[in-house]
Amino acid sequence: MYLEEVKMNFIQPCTADAARIRFKAKFSTDISEILPYINAVVKDAIYNKKVQSLTIRKEFRIITIYGTNLAVSKAINESEAYEIMDLVKDLVNKTYERKDEIEPLYEMREKPDILQVYKYLPKLNCKKCGESTCLAFASKLLSGIQKIKKCGHIYEEANRENLDKVENMLQIMGYE
Ligand code: SF4
Repeated sequence: MYLEEVKMNFIQPCTADAARIRFKAKFSTDISEILPYINAVVKDAIYNKKVQSLTIRKEFRIITIYGTNLAVSKAINESEAYEIMDLVKDLVNKTYERKDEIEPLYEMREKPDILQVYKYLPKLNCKKCGESTCLAFASKLLSGIQKIKKCGHIYEEANRENLDKVENMLQIMGYE
């Protein structure tokens, strides 16, 4: 079997909804080569060639597959987390088996724009993140140059929902 094991190594409540969980799991094999093939097969997947990630949305759940690991947010509970791990393992192995019949696709189907990210930032232009404006910070986030952790204000309780929105957009892009 191509991908033998998917092993959970991190689990905690989601940022804006403590009733849901986010988790990470490690693969026993580096599956980077198979990501463009999954991108071709799963019609609404979002593949980021630069960071080697592929995101699939299953209703409200966000499932991001990297070469050697998996990051999932908004899973219902631990038992669903194991179902998602099995689903990903199955998807990877079935795609690998059919690899010769599939034309790999390297295109990124969807990318949030700067204003979509900016909308959820605190808009204080306080420069504490090292950028001169929140708009510049949004641009750097989308390029993968900046990390959301650099903006302390978005972690304030009143901004919890906004943090969740930005984290979702960044996860879709494959940024951890
Ligand atoms: S730290 Fe946050 S609020 Fe301040 S400029 Fe940067 S993004 Fe804007």
